[in-house]
Amino acid sequence: MQSAQTMALNELKNIREARSAELERRRAELRGISSEYAAIEDDLQRAGNNLLRSVLNGGKDFDKIKDIIQSKQREKAALLRSLDLPGDYLDEKYNCDICRDTGFDDGGKKCGCLKELTAKYVIANSNMSEMMKEQTFENFDFSLFSPVPGPNGNAGLDIAKSAYDKAKAFADDIDRGGNILLKGGVGTGKTYLSSCIGNRALETGKTVYYQTAYKLCELLENVRFGKSDSEETEQAQSIKTYAEEADLLIIDDLGTEFLTQFTAAALFDLFGTRLMNRRATVISTNISFKTMDERYSARLTSRILGEYSVIKMPEGDLRRKKYE
Ligand SMILES: [Zn+2]
Repeated sequence: MQSAQTMALNELKNIREARSAELERRRAELRGISSEYAAIEDDLQRAGNNLLRSVLNGGKDFDKIKDIIQSKQREKAALLRSLDLPGDYLDEKYNCDICRDTGFDDGGKKCGCLKELTAKYVIANSNMSEMMKEQTFENFDFSLFSPVPGPNGNAGLDIAKSAYDKAKAFADDIDRGGNILLKGGVGTGKTYLSSCIGNRALETGKTVYYQTAYKLCELLENVRFGKSDSEETEQAQSIKTYAEEADLLIIDDLGTEFLTQFTAAALFDLFGTRLMNRRATVISTNISFKTMDERYSARLTSRILGEYSVIKMPEGDLRRKKYE
């Protein structure tokens, strides 16, 4: 996966190239149907070369050549009109007049259009689905949680509120590079709350990468064992780099991945790298700490997941089903 800005610059390059090709096509076509047009173009080409030579020779005949160019351009415009073509038929038309679709203004500063385009690719790179993009703190529906205390004395609603507040504080401070372990069963809103965090981070211009633990382990395996020159392996490698470097990484459903000694080590390597570089990570899981210790080795889980703040989702309220 390329960086969002590289992708945005590529798109601008494609726009410029498509336009050049189209203008070239129009010129060639006109030359084919009008010998008069071809002659004017040739004259303009010659005059342009003469003008350049004049500049290099200290400006000799500069004004005279300029007059020739202007008169030829008027001739060309009249010819286009006689062919029922608009006067700007052969002009460069930019999507953005500030940077002429280069992405940078004359002072070399990033243009607004490049920033906008980059933001579009940051969102695409996040790998969050259309449905997940609707799952925001603003859309969070507390009415799905029961206000009645359960057998353990806590009401689902109170637990949900506490989880929401912690998640929101975390999402508003991604730069701190904190870590969250979201714990809860199926249908308790783990993915929903992860999406809320991801969307808030995207809104504030952070780079985000969302992936299920299952799919992430597949990618890590591919990086390690895939054919080194295949496109798939290259793609997996660039996604792995993105997962290491994104401002926020969200791993959904830890514990559902196909586990080998290699994937366990690679997965916790990734978590460790992010911890070391102080990059924010959210992991959601349905498995208990005991199962984690058995699955990944107590050494790994205590060293890595020991650094995570735990957020518990309320258990066992069927009305919450809507959230997953
Ligand atoms: Zn621009």
